[in-house]
Amino acid sequence: MADAPAHVHDHDNPEGLVPVEEARERVLSKIEPLAPLELPLAEAYGCVLAREVVAREDIPGFASSAMDGFAVRSSDIRDATPAIPVELKIVGRALIGHRPEGTVGGGEAIRIATGAPIPAGADTIVPIENCAVEGEIVRILASSPAGKHVRPVGEDVRAGETLIRSGQRLSAAELGLLATAGVPVPLVHPRPRVVVLSTGDELIPPTQTPEFGQIRDSNAYMLFGSLREAGAVPVLAGAVKDDVEALKETVLSHLIRADAFVSSGGVSVGERDVVKAAFFRRGDLDFYRVAMQPGMPQAFGHIEGKPYFGLPGNPVSVFVSFEVFIRPALMKMMGRKQLLRPEINAKIDADVSGPKGKLQFARVRVRRGPEGWVASPTGGRGSNLISTVARANGLAMIPVGVETAEAGTEVRVMLFRSSED
Ligand code: AMP
Ligand code: MG
Repeated sequence: MADAPAHVHDHDNPEGLVPVEEARERVLSKIEPLAPLELPLAEAYGCVLAREVVAREDIPGFASSAMDGFAVRSSDIRDATPAIPVELKIVGRALIGHRPEGTVGGGEAIRIATGAPIPAGADTIVPIENCAVEGEIVRILASSPAGKHVRPVGEDVRAGETLIRSGQRLSAAELGLLATAGVPVPLVHPRPRVVVLSTGDELIPPTQTPEFGQIRDSNAYMLFGSLREAGAVPVLAGAVKDDVEALKETVLSHLIRADAFVSSGGVSVGERDVVKAAFFRRGDLDFYRVAMQPGMPQAFGHIEGKPYFGLPGNPVSVFVSFEVFIRPALMKMMGRKQLLRPEINAKIDADVSGPKGKLQFARVRVRRGPEGWVASPTGGRGSNLISTVARANGLAMIPVGVETAEAGTEVRVMLFRSSED
């Protein structure tokens, strides 16, 4: 690339291979969490809270009964027993969702339902099984101390308490808590909308039958799934011909609705490598070769302020590159603290060979054996072999410097789905 402009950084020589960790750090250092937005609860689900939520009110906001029975004064019934019951006059009812009728004075009782507010004057509930009703009179057969079967104000949360800390991801229980506390639009980091593009004259949609030499666009749908699993919102922009102007136009036409772009294909050094040609004057795309297999070369930068990830065309490279670079970047955009997939140690049950100078991501199926995790390679190394990914649940990482990891060795495996899925 002797004619590349000064701001295009090329790393095409063997010495210029960037280690995976370093490439990921470079990417992450240029990614910021998305600006927080107030979103309705249903949309905020799964998002990270951007500002702590403080309870404005006590929860619950009123004292209520935990039993069906009678609300009474504990002092009136201190000596009640089945043999010598205490007789009280029924002066009203306390229904759920309503202000109680009247108050409980000395010698009085109010019939109450579970969840109904405690009437003024009463300090305890006598469950219905300890009561015998006769007309306007209730006989109390057992004592009940003050506070018994009463759910007090603020028992769950006190006004002024921190309900949920900033940085907490909102899952089921948090949504329930926010709804209870009357916080219907929490401030969260939104889900990034990611525009997905495929490049290549050979591509057709999966609905069509290929002519000789044509290929169905699998990357777009794979990326759709990977993005959804990451919590992002994919926007499928379709396949673009290997035409610089067409690619530019498509990308720019989607700028308004994009928080980021992912394209596949067209980043290697052939005459059809449109990503480079389209964008080396716009934004600040970095093209580099990462010391990984599969997955090189890669492009990353910003176009009009939006992160742009240019992936290679081969489906396995796309899948692995997404896992290694894009997913962590999206996690950072969403304000997540845990950016990387979980990893385990597993024993491989077959030899795995790869290029010595690169970190190899080998597709494996891991399962728990009697002596710990076992990883079985799911097929060949070729980065076009998409079925090897579909059979896998993890990527075994064969480190730089190792040409063949022999059967029985322990390797680190990044899990991209649970071993049952
Ligand atoms: P490229 O990086 O554009 O040279 O593409 C490398 C290989 O990946 C070629 O064999 C392409 O046909 C294939 N490829 C590119 N894009 C896709 C896609 N969206 N779906 C499936 N295969 C693709
Ligand atoms: Mg291509």
